[in-house]
Formats: sequence, C-alpha cells, structure tokens
Amino acid sequence: MGADDEKKYEYHAKKCPECMTYIPIDADVCPTCKKRVGKATESGMARKATDWKSYILLVISWTGLALYIWWAFLRE
Ligand SMILES: [Zn+2]
Repeated sequence: MGADDEKKYEYHAKKCPECMTYIPIDADVCPTCKKRVGKATESGMARKATDWKSYILLVISWTGLALYIWWAFLRE
C-alpha cells in the first residue's frame, strides 16, 4: 500500500467532456452519449478523441469545393 495505490483508486473513473457523466477510466466510447473519448487528464476529465473521420470528411469536402470552383470557372 502506498500513495500510488490510492492514486489508482482515485482515477478509476473519468468524466465525459460531452455529457459530463462519469465513465470507466479505460472506456474509448462514452456509454451515455456514444461519443469517442480519449485518456483521462490529471483533473479526471477525458480528453476529446481526435475525430479523424469528420476531419477527413472536412478535407475531402473542401477539396471537392475547390475542384468544383476550378471546374466551373477556371477551366480553359
Ligand atoms: Zn458522454
């Protein structure tokens, strides 16, 4: 028994940054709001997971828009 054991017990849960519910410390997805969450910070709050899917979708949609503008106005 020592300070480390107490610390582990203290951080057995983390707080979901989306819905502020306490969720298991090792959860990747919040069981309450189904949002992806990252590792817990020192304050016990889970980090927001990097949402690669929507990031990539955003890049693709901007690229598509740029291509459309090029195709519609800048050809020839
Ligand atoms: Zn949540």
